[in-house]
Amino acid sequence: MEDCLFCKIAAGEIPSTKVYEDDHWFAFRDINPSAPVHVLLIPRQHVKNILALTDETNKNFSDFFLVVKKIAEQEGLGDNGFRLVINTGAEAGQTVFHFHAHIIGGKAMGWPPF
Ligand code: IMP
Repeated sequence: MEDCLFCKIAAGEIPSTKVYEDDHWFAFRDINPSAPVHVLLIPRQHVKNILALTDETNKNFSDFFLVVKKIAEQEGLGDNGFRLVINTGAEAGQTVFHFHAHIIGGKAMGWPPF
């Protein structure tokens, strides 16, 4: 999609620190990390957020949790765990309107987060 920051990152048009990629997914380090590990996982296909998913676009999400697991283990989070955050909509704090999952770890976290 034109003028989408994360589409441009996935296409390599804007630089990022890549941590994972395959045919459907691209993951890179958050520019403003909130923990020692803070990775953003995005689909290459432009989907605004969970509320914009359709039966068609959801097909590329079938391996989402396995990709999250792969990245978490690759980042050394396999023993102590991690937090997965998907801000959906402006009120929830979504600021970039291309689906992204925050994979956050490397420190102890509290709950609730707000
Ligand atoms: P949101 O608030 O859930 O939409 O998260 C957007 C995230 O994207 C924030 O954590 C930002 O720090 C991050 N971000 C914004 N621009 C860039 C960038 O150019 N590279 C890497 N991360 C970015």
